[in-house]
Amino acid sequence: SPILLWFRRDLRLSDHPALDAACTTGRPVIPVFIHDDVVENTGAAAKMRWGMSIAAQAAALHDKGSRLILRRGDALAVLRDLVRETGAGAVWWSRLYDPECKDRDTAVKSALTDDGIDAKSHAGHLLFEPWTVETGSGGFYKVYTPMWKNVRDRQLPDSISAPSTVPAPDQWPDSDDLDDWQMAAAMQRGADVVRPWCTVGEDAAIQRLATFVQHRIADYQKNRDIPGMKHGTSGLSENLTYGEISPLTCWHAGWRAMDRAGTGAETFLKELVWREFAYHLIYHTPRIVDRNWREEWDGFDWNTDERLAEVKAWKKGRTGIRFVDAAMREMYVTGTMHNRGRMIVASYLTKHLQCDWRIGQRWFADCLIDWDPASNAMGWQWSAGSGPDATPYFRVFNPVTQLDKFDGDGDYVRAWLAEEYSNPSDTALSYFEAIPEHWGMSPDDTYPDPVVAADDGRKAALDAYDRFKNG
Ligand code: FAD
Repeated sequence: SPILLWFRRDLRLSDHPALDAACTTGRPVIPVFIHDDVVENTGAAAKMRWGMSIAAQAAALHDKGSRLILRRGDALAVLRDLVRETGAGAVWWSRLYDPECKDRDTAVKSALTDDGIDAKSHAGHLLFEPWTVETGSGGFYKVYTPMWKNVRDRQLPDSISAPSTVPAPDQWPDSDDLDDWQMAAAMQRGADVVRPWCTVGEDAAIQRLATFVQHRIADYQKNRDIPGMKHGTSGLSENLTYGEISPLTCWHAGWRAMDRAGTGAETFLKELVWREFAYHLIYHTPRIVDRNWREEWDGFDWNTDERLAEVKAWKKGRTGIRFVDAAMREMYVTGTMHNRGRMIVASYLTKHLQCDWRIGQRWFADCLIDWDPASNAMGWQWSAGSGPDATPYFRVFNPVTQLDKFDGDGDYVRAWLAEEYSNPSDTALSYFEAIPEHWGMSPDDTYPDPVVAADDGRKAALDAYDRFKNG
């Protein structure tokens, strides 16, 4: 009987343990993607990007003599329908670890098993299953560095090649049309703004990794902190998010570069383990997604009002703080933001403006094409000081000196701020074409004074922290 292969954030053919296992059985394989509430509730840019990934996966499967069946609805109901329609005896998928997906998958597995179906999850989204990494005393890691030391030298299996063909069933079940799903409908700025910045699908991801490892990894440690540098980092987060490439493929590529690109390669491997750490945390402490990981932070006097003028200015990239504004505009147009930018804008929101990190998390979820439930939550709680292994609240990034340090040539600011330049860059101008008219911004405006200046915000944050600490 056929095997239903339920694709989610694993939209690739190579190094895909579930697909490989299914093809090895010789039984017909019916690939399916389900537009359920998890997909429905994804932020605008990520949902659009997911749609692009689905299209690429459908094309790749087509080249292997297969198809990607698209259905909309509750996952269990859809899978049961498909089991009935196709006579499938098995439903396999790649494991996910965030609470929403874990709860859904547990319920699906138990119900299908009760129906007598072989319902099975496989590895593939991570290098290390969260329950296989333990501290010396047997718990999970709450600090990154010891986890890195624990896993660094582990022997991992080779990546698995893509199947040469994916065995097709005699008859295909009906499929929705991807266009009807309107995956880009929530993009108020129009899909065409962000789309050209996307690098979509497995082939493109493999090429991106190859180029990075060949030309850039050696200088990665030096370049990764420079936001104005094109391709200082791999850019792979957008592909890892939808599983267009496996972390294992990236890991092996990093190790292969170790001899000639030592520090750069090691730094890249370390970053991949930050992603693992985020998943380790979300698995063991699911509350990280929407509650202060350190519960005492519930008592901090966060601003929670999204209507505050300062919050609006932050979202619009109009705080008057150049690093913050450049980064926020970069994200609005490209769907990604340099890691240093993410740290700076998150610090400014949570410390200078003392806003609840969840305000920022929501906006990032709406704007990022590489939105990832684990890395995003960890990044925000790290920045706010409420998370594990976080930067302490009293360590307040100075967005002005940080800009001098990491954008000394002004490339980043020039790329994203148009005001004050007689000849603004195309990218900076493209922001003004993307934003809604009612934001009332024009490239001819005078660049605003800071809504909260770097030093004032630092002082306010430290005062708030003192009040918090002293009850
Ligand atoms: P590279 O520098 O090339 O690194 C290689 C890979 O390592 C990345 O693709 C990513 O998978 C992983 N990685 C690197 N840095 C981190 C990190 N700090 N945490 C976890 N994994 C990391 N990353 C996301 O993928 N999705 C998010 O939604 C996300 N939100 C963030 C929010 C905040 C507030 C902060 C501070 C960080 C966030 N990050 C997020 C982490 C990081 O900024 C991005 O992973 C990185 O910028 C992606 O660029 P790259 O692929 O070129 O990374």
